[in-house]
Amino acid sequence: MSSEAEWSDRPPGMPGHTPVVPGRAYLVGAGPGDPGLISARALELISLADVILYDRLIPEGALDGARADAELVFVGKEGGASSADQQQIEEVMLEHARAGRTVVRLKGGDPFVFGRGGEEALALRAADIPFEVVPGVTAGIAAPAYAGIPVTQRGIASAVALVTGHEDPSKPGRDLDWKALAAFPGTLVLYMGVARLEQIATALIEAGRPAGEPAAVVQEGTLPGQRTVRAPLGELAQAVAEAGLRAPAVTVVGPVSELAGQIAWHAAGPLAGSTVAVTRARAQASDMARRLRALGARVVEAPVIRIRPLAPDPTQLELSGYDLVCLTSPNGVRLLFEQLAAAGRDARALAGTKVAVIGPGTARALADRGIRADVVPERFVAESLVEALQQMPVERALIVRAARARDVLPEALRARGAHVDVLALYETVAEPLSEQTLAAARAADYITFTSSSTVGFLLHAAGGEVGLGPSTRVVSIGPVTSTALREGGLTPDVEAERHDIDGVIEAILADRASRP
Ligand code: SAH
Repeated sequence: MSSEAEWSDRPPGMPGHTPVVPGRAYLVGAGPGDPGLISARALELISLADVILYDRLIPEGALDGARADAELVFVGKEGGASSADQQQIEEVMLEHARAGRTVVRLKGGDPFVFGRGGEEALALRAADIPFEVVPGVTAGIAAPAYAGIPVTQRGIASAVALVTGHEDPSKPGRDLDWKALAAFPGTLVLYMGVARLEQIATALIEAGRPAGEPAAVVQEGTLPGQRTVRAPLGELAQAVAEAGLRAPAVTVVGPVSELAGQIAWHAAGPLAGSTVAVTRARAQASDMARRLRALGARVVEAPVIRIRPLAPDPTQLELSGYDLVCLTSPNGVRLLFEQLAAAGRDARALAGTKVAVIGPGTARALADRGIRADVVPERFVAESLVEALQQMPVERALIVRAARARDVLPEALRARGAHVDVLALYETVAEPLSEQTLAAARAADYITFTSSSTVGFLLHAAGGEVGLGPSTRVVSIGPVTSTALREGGLTPDVEAERHDIDGVIEAILADRASRP
């Protein structure tokens, strides 16, 4: 095996390198579900990985920071992987690592707590592949914590046992010693216990655990759909069945369960229980998705478009000849600065030029690069920008935007006698949607359209007929998008008053609050 020094010579995840040594593998815990509970180290590794093998129970948005060219492989199985599946996962992991790639094996919770991370570590060691383990916040502690249950408590529980509820207590010859578990002097936390709850509770009681002992089940702990049911151990299974709790859930057995009555703190957000589909390009969706999730929504990311940069002629980046430069989207800002940088230039290319933007998102993107927009219109549409520019003398204007876009702005400026050039820095192209994503978007409570192009591309992705669910509310960012929706045969149920992402979110909040 090579020395450690050699390994560190090659930064992990450098694209395009020629593999001379095997890559490195990382067994990474992604935490119990709340995206805020992913560790900084996990996020760092996700952003570096060549390949990410991920499970079903990882937080929404956990892969947002992955490289655009990273290979993302879903290896989760409903109800847990069989040994054959597990062997296959290990083989795929080894294969990628042997080819010199940086592999992140991303798992829910902690990789070494009922996560089969230990088996994968043994497989890596046997194959002589260097690896690291990144612990995660485990569901058995985090879900109770979010439900207001400290798994240990001075004077009440001085020990906690993490137990798999996967094993069938009625079958002999299994690892679990129910007598010993029943006698355990502390809190029991059972993973994977909902389907078997009745059997497990009975097994524990038969083995001597008091039927009257306080217990609780926490479903979807740390997630917007978190629910808790508390009952004495002997009545727990029935209470859980009546409340309709489902997986994933953990069961807590012990007097600490009662503390939830005083400590429960996790309030559901105003959008808890609602699913919102976001159709905009993945690169822009994450910020909107994060804000929706923070309000409790479940987000379906269904990007129907992708931004494809276009390479302009370097002479077109000569901005000093214009007295006005208009930027119509944060994408335009980002790509303009990338192009300037590629040409060895910087923000000073805009020195002495007035800069106008269509909305605050674009203004923010500019401000991040040290430029304050001179003009931000009151309403965030091209017509409003035309109005805002009315008083400003303009001789030569440059409009930085997408290849195909509305011509309201250039035409209005030309009509005033100005010379107008258009610099197209990107085009939006269709992004195919998987059947699964499309189905999830169709079934969402809200489907959001943040530009007219997302409408056409969704129709395209859906094969002409969007086929939304009967209760799905169609949300439009503004009048231009609403027109495109109507032309596509969709009725906007909600139209944002402010034509930006904040406005869309406000409109959803208002709609949700006004409905039973
Ligand atoms: N390695 C994971 C556990 C994987 S086993 C960890 O450390 O958390 C999967 C089981 O974990 C589920 O069946 C469920 O019992 C539990 N679980 C995972 N996420 C959960 C969540 N958000 N809320 C409640 N239980 C969860």
